[in-house]
Amino acid sequence: MNQPSADVTIIGGGIIGSALAWELTARNITVALYDRREIGREATWASAGIISPPGERHGSRSQLALDAFRRYPALIAEAQELSGIAVGYNPTGQLNLGEDLHAEQFATDARWLAEHGIPAELLDAQAIREREPAVLERYTHGILVPGSGSVLLGQLARALARVAQRRGATIYEHCRVEGVVVERGRATAIRTFDGTRPAGTLVIAAGAWSRMLGDSIDLPSPTYPVRGQMLALADPPVPIRSVLSAGLGYLVPRADGTIAVGATEEHTSGFDDRVTPAGLAELAGIISNLAPSLAQGRFIGAWAGLRPGSDDGELIVGRAPHLENVWLATGHYRSGALLAPATAGLLAESIATGHTVAGLAAFDPARFVR
Ligand SMILES: Cc1cc2nc3c(=O)[nH]c(=O)nc-3n(C[C@H](O)[C@H](O)[C@H](O)COP(=O)(O)OP(=O)(O)OC[C@H]3O[C@@H](n4cnc5c(N)ncnc54)[C@H](O)[C@@H]3O)c2cc1C
Repeated sequence: MNQPSADVTIIGGGIIGSALAWELTARNITVALYDRREIGREATWASAGIISPPGERHGSRSQLALDAFRRYPALIAEAQELSGIAVGYNPTGQLNLGEDLHAEQFATDARWLAEHGIPAELLDAQAIREREPAVLERYTHGILVPGSGSVLLGQLARALARVAQRRGATIYEHCRVEGVVVERGRATAIRTFDGTRPAGTLVIAAGAWSRMLGDSIDLPSPTYPVRGQMLALADPPVPIRSVLSAGLGYLVPRADGTIAVGATEEHTSGFDDRVTPAGLAELAGIISNLAPSLAQGRFIGAWAGLRPGSDDGELIVGRAPHLENVWLATGHYRSGALLAPATAGLLAESIATGHTVAGLAAFDPARFVR
């Protein structure tokens, strides 16, 4: 078979695959990036793109998330400058809202963040109202992280991919990888509509679809789609300044003045990415629960995307257990926007050195091998 055209072939041009292409090409590693649609068009495009720090409850991914959070402002600036693509970064801060019973948890979170060098402020009822007059009266406690914000994640993926392309990556859009050819314990090629193409190192970063590619070569990549629906509105009677969140619902003020409302979390949707009346009703409920006056805003549109969930709820990032030149980068579920820079940085380092770096140990795909 012919020589591969690139050192690394990445399947999937969502935020994870695009960020990896950026990181690898920065290390002078050549890349071929394949997506069956356009770059950043699936979960990545549908994402709220909230970039907020973790807490100690995030367990094994806390360190990864802290690294990613710290990297973001510089990454955004560099990606925009080098690509010429605006990524809608809006560093508004995030205000997490609660009632009296949440006061203790918020104080613990603020201490934990301070210990990790991330400023956070505890707000009482009056301070919440002064900052965010639209917020429902029942919220008496809040924790504000001024360094948080949001990004248009699809745009960021395109920006990262474009820079990778300028550094020599080849990008194949509308090119579905139908399978992987395995010979003597190595992946040797990918199969596309027009035949097989030789592959060197292979990375499966196909989001919720990773399981299908993995299954075809007996690889443990147990991902499944978790639908998230969102809507956007404009002209709210009372504007909001910060990302506002309570429980799983949130409101995200965009740089263009619109507000994104999210998100449903549907574990039995399969690969159906349609917006449903039930989803819209749930989103209307999130508005009522956070800032009811926004219900009088102008409805712009709604969309849905499929988050890459994993069977044990943890990331799946690392070398395939029985194929030495295959790596997995999936399972980012609700945190792929935040985690992408850290996952990509550590994975690129692992691929470059041939050894999985310590920061990825908790996400080793080998844990699924019985
Ligand atoms: C509604 C919603 C809100 C969210 N909000 C946030 C948030 O606020 N903060 C946060 O951190 N995260 C958030 N997330 C999660 C985050 O967006 C995802 O974790 C992240 O986008 C996953 O990126 P990915 O690259 O793994 O997957 P995807 O973006 O789905 O990319 C996978 C890519 O692989 C391609 N592909 C699949 N199969 C093949 C094949 N056979 N051949 C070639 N290409 C293939 C697909 O076309 C796709 O482009 C949200 C997600 C959703 C849906």
